[in-house]
Amino acid sequence: MEKFDVIIVGSGLAGLTTALELSEDGKTVAVLEKHKVIGGRTSSWDEDGMIVESGFHRHIGYYEELPKILKKVGVEVDDIVQWEEQIDVRIKGSKNKASFGISPVFGPIDTIKGIIGNNDILSPKDKFSLIAFFTNGFLEIVKNPEKLDKYNVREFAEKYEVSENALHYVVIPLSAGIFFLPPERYSAKVFFGLFLPGIPRFYKLRIGAYLGGMTEVLAKPLAKHIVKNNGIIKTDINVKGLILDEDMVKGVKLEDGSEIFAKHVVVATNLGGAKEILRGHFLNHPSFENLFALPTMPAVTIQMEFEKPILPVDRTTFGPLTSLASFAEQSRSTFTHVPGRLSVILTPPEKFLDMNHDEILKHVQKDGRELGLDLESGLMNYRVVSHPEDFHSLEPGNDHLRPDQKTPIEGLVLAGDYTRQPYFATMEGAVRSGLYAAKIVLEE
Ligand SMILES: Cc1cc2nc3c(=O)[nH]c(=O)nc-3n(C[C@H](O)[C@H](O)[C@H](O)COP(=O)(O)OP(=O)(O)OC[C@H]3O[C@@H](n4cnc5c(N)ncnc54)[C@H](O)[C@@H]3O)c2cc1C
Repeated sequence: MEKFDVIIVGSGLAGLTTALELSEDGKTVAVLEKHKVIGGRTSSWDEDGMIVESGFHRHIGYYEELPKILKKVGVEVDDIVQWEEQIDVRIKGSKNKASFGISPVFGPIDTIKGIIGNNDILSPKDKFSLIAFFTNGFLEIVKNPEKLDKYNVREFAEKYEVSENALHYVVIPLSAGIFFLPPERYSAKVFFGLFLPGIPRFYKLRIGAYLGGMTEVLAKPLAKHIVKNNGIIKTDINVKGLILDEDMVKGVKLEDGSEIFAKHVVVATNLGGAKEILRGHFLNHPSFENLFALPTMPAVTIQMEFEKPILPVDRTTFGPLTSLASFAEQSRSTFTHVPGRLSVILTPPEKFLDMNHDEILKHVQKDGRELGLDLESGLMNYRVVSHPEDFHSLEPGNDHLRPDQKTPIEGLVLAGDYTRQPYFATMEGAVRSGLYAAKIVLEE
């Protein structure tokens, strides 16, 4: 009979962080992962001959805990990312784009140019209309975050009379680009809350593209250390439920009917996965009411390989008013083995979830044309990568439903970006949830 101190279900950043912390403390840990590759939403793999990833990611310079756990396993963020100090917004119906500097310290000139420039798309009046929106958003998120969760971003923008242009070229790109949702579906609490940690650490602000697939640059170095600490990581293992003995968790049941025992089980899956595992045991348990009530939200990406680069630089780009919420050329940063590579996150995600992949491609090529991009010539390969139930919904009114890592069930702890931590659905949030989960296990 296999027995561990702790079983961790899920090998995303939350699960790997939990496993790393506990194995460093001398606990025997087993990480069980449903998929063939580790990393969860930060993974990369070979999909029928094309290297794909869960979706293109940006490391934000103000993250604190993710860099710390990477450092613990010998990885410096500066060695695995290519920093960007600017983002581009492409204008529908023209070949023009606006560039915004996002890094007051690392790229001060670009930041100032972004604010005082871009006058062909944003008049001084448009820019001025954003001041009240951002100032009041940041004041409210500090003073009364719950009130802010009642508004969607569009309502909040209307309240502060953001001009139509500023809405189109700043608010929509930010909301659709960051969490794939149009502003009318995006909670103002999440929108401002995500920027909040950046304010005291504004000097750290910039974003980085990973220099390699995320399983390689993030997950594998963490996994290597867990194994070095005598931890076990098994892939292709689908956990179906828990082993319960008089309300105490004793281990997990696998899809093949076998059982693995442990003193603690940390369910570090995506929200959809957690609901599946816990449903059979706690659907009507009052302490899990919020978790089951918290809706999931999908994400859909299309990743394309070309005979030559589509964009002159590898830089995060937004395509407001089209399905291309955000996209980036990656052939000089993340995937240098191909001459051209574009990764696109689509909005609104639900529209594309069940769409035939050829149809998605045609849709994206048509919208690409509207943004002045030729996504037909030289296309060599493409794949659609979807995440039907990975995210918790970031729509207004849901944030209070996110559960704590600690549960009232002895031996059961939760982790994952949907659990309560201040960084919402981000890599930093996942890592923080893993740190909290490990602390709970160590204290019990
Ligand atoms: C397209 C896209 C773009 C993103 N962009 C960014 C970005 O730019 N910056 C940023 O900070 N964040 C970004 N994120 C969010 C970030 O990836 C997530 O917040 C974070 O990776 C979540 O980690 P996690 O460990 O909580 O969950 P996951 O990474 O989802 O890990 C959960 C794991 O549990 C496994 N699992 C589920 N059920 C079972 C089961 N029954 N048995 C065994 N294993 C199971 C899953 O297979 C998965 O590996 C993006 C995500 C996506 C999808």
